[in-house]
Amino acid sequence: MPTIPSRRERLKDTPAPRPKRVILAAPRGYCAGVDRAVIAVEKALTNFGAPVYVRKQIVHNIHVVSTLEKKGAIFVDDVAEVPEGAHVVFSAHGVSPAVVQGAKDRNLQAIDATCPLVTKVHREATRFARDDYQILLVGHAGHEEVEGTMGHAPERTTLVNSPADVATIEVDNRDRLVWLSQTTLSVDETMETVRLLRERFPTLQDPPSDDICYATQNRQVAIKKVAEEAELVIVVGSANSSNTVRLVDVALENGARAAHRVDYASEIQQEWLDGVSTIGVTSGASVPEVLVQQVLDDLADAGFADVSTVVTAEEDLMFSLPKELRTDAQGNPDERALGGRRRLDWQKDD
Ligand code: SF4
Repeated sequence: MPTIPSRRERLKDTPAPRPKRVILAAPRGYCAGVDRAVIAVEKALTNFGAPVYVRKQIVHNIHVVSTLEKKGAIFVDDVAEVPEGAHVVFSAHGVSPAVVQGAKDRNLQAIDATCPLVTKVHREATRFARDDYQILLVGHAGHEEVEGTMGHAPERTTLVNSPADVATIEVDNRDRLVWLSQTTLSVDETMETVRLLRERFPTLQDPPSDDICYATQNRQVAIKKVAEEAELVIVVGSANSSNTVRLVDVALENGARAAHRVDYASEIQQEWLDGVSTIGVTSGASVPEVLVQQVLDDLADAGFADVSTVVTAEEDLMFSLPKELRTDAQGNPDERALGGRRRLDWQKDD
């Protein structure tokens, strides 16, 4: 007759519950281009007074946009919506020469907050087009950055939206072919697209330097490391933020069983946490740290109070402000003009 194990024996065989913990990715959150663009709008409001118009979302984050709206920024889709002579800020994603001309035609006081790393890609596009190259631009159709870059060489640029596009691309001259890319793509997917392009066009030239920016790359490297250990990854950021959405993809491709994007901590679903012991957390390049902190607070309330950080790179890059904003309202040089600042004031504001 089988013996029934005693309660003590049964408990001895039951594995101890795994400790609940959070692994925070670093770097995460604000990059130098976003920092500069947000400061540009704040400073334009201080120097010129509200309202200040902004063409498109200054950065792709709904919290940042709504906070700036409360301070007096008005976001528009087209410079045609801006009253003649008013101040308008171009977003971090950049604009085409046609938009710049449209602003001039309306006598707008334009402030260009295009990230310098996007401007670098614009310059590459202009130069290669001038030298009669056909540019294969790896990027997402409809993204503002892609529209701006294509606008610098409209006749010479062909968009490669995904690896699936490669088979159908037509080129004029295989000897004058170069690829460029959007700054916020998945590094791995882009390299796969380029591999396929090169298979079809062995003479394809590389860009002079990486177009996918340091911030996008660093955040992907960090979340890859975190995803090796995390069953669930939570990425803070908005749905239209390309680099944020890529972080979800990268987490799933590198070991996370599940990965979800949230704008706010309140969007975390209880069922995501069921049966999970390790949660990875990161944020896109346009996300203020206060939103990550709210996620950590809510996870702590749910028993995930043990937080450790995986650091895969240090970032200290800062960009000088647009030239129109390098003085204060009285015309004196501004100490912040030659560099952004860490966004600690967002934490205080909110
Ligand atoms: S994500 Fe990269 S390209 Fe975009 S604003 Fe930030 S630093 Fe610039």
